[in-house]
Amino acid sequence: MRQRATGHITFFQRSMHNEHARRLESEQLLRDALAQLWVEPFLQPLVDTVRGTITGFEALCRIRHPETGLVSPGEFIPVAEETGLIHPLSLQLLDQILPLLSDSRMTERYGNAFYISFNLSPVQLQDPHMGEEILERLRHSGVSPERLNIELTETAVMGDANTAIEIMERFATAGFAISLDDFGAGYSSLGLIRSLPLQQVKIDRSLVSSVDTDDEKRAILNMILSLCEQLDLTAVVEGVETETELACLAGMGAQLVQGFLFSRPLPPETLLDQVPPRGLL
Ligand code: C2E
Ligand code: CA
Ligand code: CA
Ligand code: CA
Repeated sequence: MRQRATGHITFFQRSMHNEHARRLESEQLLRDALAQLWVEPFLQPLVDTVRGTITGFEALCRIRHPETGLVSPGEFIPVAEETGLIHPLSLQLLDQILPLLSDSRMTERYGNAFYISFNLSPVQLQDPHMGEEILERLRHSGVSPERLNIELTETAVMGDANTAIEIMERFATAGFAISLDDFGAGYSSLGLIRSLPLQQVKIDRSLVSSVDTDDEKRAILNMILSLCEQLDLTAVVEGVETETELACLAGMGAQLVQGFLFSRPLPPETLLDQVPPRGLL
């Protein structure tokens, strides 16, 4: 009995130790990436299936490590949020994203009206200073605000809701559209989408996978789509991977979609090379 308990403690301590070591490693990777400018935005198209055009792109960050290659945000965003490094990370990304909006190769290929969606972490809406600094960056870039969309999850208003909403209002007043990300994945308070200054709702991909065979998912998706329509919010369905899912969504009236079916997130150079203006439709 006693030995077993000791064994458990040792195991527990060891896994804590590993967890701690992994976090330190991620933090170091992040610090190196920021210092060496290894952070890059990848772009994934948002496709209008009715018009057959690309309306915009979501910027998703990657670290390109010279030895180990690409690192996904799942590996470093949590640590970035805990350490506050999310803020310099966002600024480095913005400095690369904003010029893409007026890049001549981008506008020749995709027109000059496409927008880029940019993810902000909940912690960035808990700190008025971070929010204000990002807003200043955008204002000074001279970019027309309708060309940039801010994506936030509902967890942003689960901390200090007043601060978060105040910062959101400032973005909205400056003309930037705000999307509620991952809708339908968490608590998804229906009241929330009415009380926030939103223009767009992004429906989480967990509701999309096997929507063609799952009646419950279809019912929830239908409800969210009609709610968005009645509240005058643009709905984007995320994570569309198959033609069957797409056909099913089209039948439900979903117009804007995003997913591997159209394109994975790609470095801008590769995107320009491989993704035509009609988004491979
Ligand atoms: P997200 O904002 O929900 O982004 C969508 C994620 O779904 C991306 O993963 C994208 O590659 C993936 N995805 C897109 N289409 C499909 C599909 O058809 N099937 C599947 N299975 N997945 C699809 P990624 O790039 O690994 O990013 C993961 C998360 O990391 C993002 O989720 C977002 O929460 C966070 N993230 C990424 N970039 C940033 C950033 O610049 N700032 C912040 N704060 N968070 C970021
Ligand atoms: Ca997002
Ligand atoms: Ca999402
Ligand atoms: Ca997410």
